[in-house]
Amino acid sequence: MREISGRTRFTAIFGDPVEHSLSPAMHNAAYAALGIERAYLAFHVAPRHLHGAIRALPALEIAGVNLTVPHKENAVAMMAHLSEEALTLGAINCVVNRNGELYGDNTDARGLELDLRGSGVTLEGRAVVIVGAGGAAASAVLACIRMGVGRILLCNRTVERATRLAHRFTHIGQALTGIPIHASGLDKLAEPAALADIALMINATPMGLKTGGFALLAYDAAPADCMFYDMVYGREPTPFMVPALALGRCALDGAGMLLNQGALAFELFNNVAAPIAVMRATLMAALGRA
Ligand code: NAP
Repeated sequence: MREISGRTRFTAIFGDPVEHSLSPAMHNAAYAALGIERAYLAFHVAPRHLHGAIRALPALEIAGVNLTVPHKENAVAMMAHLSEEALTLGAINCVVNRNGELYGDNTDARGLELDLRGSGVTLEGRAVVIVGAGGAAASAVLACIRMGVGRILLCNRTVERATRLAHRFTHIGQALTGIPIHASGLDKLAEPAALADIALMINATPMGLKTGGFALLAYDAAPADCMFYDMVYGREPTPFMVPALALGRCALDGAGMLLNQGALAFELFNNVAAPIAVMRATLMAALGRA
């Protein structure tokens, strides 16, 4: 990171917890590469302080902040302006300070779509299973719709939440998507018929990270070209990916999504093209994959 001076302007991430975040490393490497006098900080912001922390952005002339768990939905009401995508998702992961007016956007769906396309996934008319029904699952639904998906099955621990998410995406704005989106519990993942023709399964939950095991899943019932994509990422393959890899299936973690959503946020905050190769190299080094 460049030396901080009286001229340094800041960007940041707000989260609870935030200590694990790899965003400061990615963004600061990008500032150093471009020679921009900016720095990216991580602030531990408890939910009760979110309002105060966001209100402080114009006063401190902070150019923009990323939001992570648990702030993405709660911050929406604090924005003066929202992108179409933020309105569709009901959640934001970026706050941009535009001359004191706060603009909320969400780069998760675009970040995921870029990673899926870049990894050779094509969804035109195909079926997809998404595990989860929170904000990340909503961004996965939007990315899949943009990629021309034919049918989506949402599987979640709390079935009512998956049902609500499915209903939300029957329309985007005024437009009827016309894409069948069904909801069920996690038990559906063990039924071979549910996976028989899918091109992609996305995990949008932290399931298995603490306990070590993922839900019972009929991996071998999916077609040979199915991609098992985990939004979770780490130094090792995730509990969702391990059985897929053992069967010789294609599996990816969410590092590429993290990189792309971060690069898009960098461009929103700084109005310059993100040096994505530098950001990727920094992220991969942090994940021990250099
Ligand atoms: P969220 O809104 O809190 O939703 C969490 C989801 O996970 C819900 O569907 C929840 O089910 C489910 N879940 C949580 N613990 C579970 C467990 N032990 N067993 C089964 N299901 C469980 O969180 P989110 O923002 O959607 O994030 C979800 C995951 O995506 C997180 O791990 C996050 O790190 C990751 N993510 C990655 C990126 C990236 O750039 N790679 C971006 C965004 C998010 P219930 O509804 O039943 O509670």
